[in-house]
Amino acid sequence: MRRLRRAKIVATLGPSSSSAEMIARLFAAGADVFRINMSHTSHDRMRELVGLIRTVEKDTGRPIGVLVDLQGPKLRLGTFAGGSVTVKNGDTFVLDCDPAPGDATRAFLPHPEIFAAVAAGHTLLIDDGKVRLTVTEAEPDRMTTRVAVGGTLSDRKGVSVPDSTIPVSALTAKDLSDLEAALETGVDWIALSFVQRPEDIAEAKKITRGRALIMAKIEKPQAVHRLTEIMDLADALMVARGDLGVEMPLERVPGVQKLMTRAGRATGKPVVVATQMLESMIGAPVPTRAEVSDVATAIFEGADAVMLSAESAAGKFPEEAVATMNRIAEEVERDGFFRNIINAQRAVPEATGADAIADAARHIADTLDLAAVICWTSSGSTGLRVARERPRPPIVALSPNMSTGRRLAVVWGVHSVVTEDAKDQDDMVSRACRIAFKEGFAKTGQRVIIVAGVPLGTPGATNMLRIAFVGSEAESGD
Ligand code: PGA
Ligand code: MN
Repeated sequence: MRRLRRAKIVATLGPSSSSAEMIARLFAAGADVFRINMSHTSHDRMRELVGLIRTVEKDTGRPIGVLVDLQGPKLRLGTFAGGSVTVKNGDTFVLDCDPAPGDATRAFLPHPEIFAAVAAGHTLLIDDGKVRLTVTEAEPDRMTTRVAVGGTLSDRKGVSVPDSTIPVSALTAKDLSDLEAALETGVDWIALSFVQRPEDIAEAKKITRGRALIMAKIEKPQAVHRLTEIMDLADALMVARGDLGVEMPLERVPGVQKLMTRAGRATGKPVVVATQMLESMIGAPVPTRAEVSDVATAIFEGADAVMLSAESAAGKFPEEAVATMNRIAEEVERDGFFRNIINAQRAVPEATGADAIADAARHIADTLDLAAVICWTSSGSTGLRVARERPRPPIVALSPNMSTGRRLAVVWGVHSVVTEDAKDQDDMVSRACRIAFKEGFAKTGQRVIIVAGVPLGTPGATNMLRIAFVGSEAESGD
C-alpha cells in the first residue's frame, strides 16, 4: 500500500474516531500519523488508542506515527461570584492574587509569575482573545487594566500574555505525568504546547532521552522570535495556527506559516501545518473553497504534513475530511507550478557526506528519470536529509528499526519499510530493488538510486550511492 502524494496527513483522534474500525478507515483514507490530544484524553484512553493504532499497523504492514500532544501551561482566570461578568470598553478591571470570587471590577489570577512579567502597556487576552485588556499599572501582586475590547469573563477562562515571556516551564505537573505515560506506551512523537524558549525543549529532551522525538508547537509570538534557537533543539515544528491567531494579529499568521515552512525546509526538520484547515467539515461533508485553498497553500509551500483537529476528532465527517486532504495534496502535487515552487526553495547542502550524497541523488534522479530514491537509514537521519532535497521521485526509507519507520511517517515524501539490515553491498542493492518493486514504486526495467552508509548502522556515515536496474528477479519476492 503506497500513497500517491508526498505531503503527509496528521489526523487527531477523539470521540468521532476512537473505534478500531474508524481508525482503520482514516488510515485507508490517507492518515499517516495519528494525534492524541492530552487536553481531552485520559491515560487509559491514550493507551487504548495507541493499541488500536498498532493493530491497524499490524493489519496493513505500514508503520504509523503516533503523536501525543501535551496540554502545556495554559494560564487561566479564577472564578466569579455569579459564574460570569460582563466588562465594557473603557472599564477599569483589576487582576490580583486574592482567591476570592471575582466581580465586575476584579478577578483572581492564580499565576503569580504573570504579575512580575507584565508592564504597563502590555495586552492581556482572555478567552481566545474575545476580551482584550491593556495593562495601565503593574504592581507585584495586582495589575490594573483598561478594557480595550469588552465582553464576558467567566470561570477559568484562558489568559494569554503575548507581550512578555512568563517564566513558567513548558511542562506542567499534568504534562509530566502525561509525558511519562506516553513514553511508557511507546509513542513516536511528543508535541509541546505553548513553547516560549529553547530551554523548554531542552527540559523535555532531558526526560524523553531519545525515547520519542519532540515537536515544538509554535503558538506564541515569543517562540516565533526565538524560532532559530528552538529549531536547533526541536526535532520538528507545528505551526499551531489556532493559538497563534489569538496571540498575534490574524493577518500575521500566514507570514509566520511561510517563515516556518521555509525554516523547516532549510534545516531539514519536519513542519506540520495545523488547525482549522477544513473547519467547516466538522459539520459538513464538503469543505469551503477557502479551506481547500488553505490546504493547497501548505502543500505548495512544501510543508511536511497538514493536520486535522476537530474535523477528525469530533466532527461528523472524519473520513471525508481525511479523504479531502488526500485529494487536495494529490492534485496540488500534480500541478505544474508545484515543482517550480519546491525547487525554488531548495537550501544548499551542508558540508556533510549525507548532504552531499542526498544532493547528488536528487540530481541523478532527475537526469535519469529514476523511479525512486531508496535510502538505508537506521536512525532516520539520512531519510530526513534526502527529504530535505525534495527529490522528484518518491523516497523509500529502509530501516531495521520500527521506531524509525514510525517517526518518518510525518516526513515529506518518505515511505518507510522496516526490514533487517543488509548482509553486504549486493544484498543491499538487491533487497532495495525487491522492496521498491513489491511496494509499487518501481517496475521491472526501471532504475532506482540507492543511498546508504557503509558499514550499515553507523550513524552519520552516509557514503554510498548506487544506480540499479530493477531486474525481473526483483519480482521473485522478498
Ligand atoms: P491545540 O494546538 O489544538 O492544542 O490548541 C494547535 C493550535 O493552537 O493551533
Ligand atoms: Mn494550541
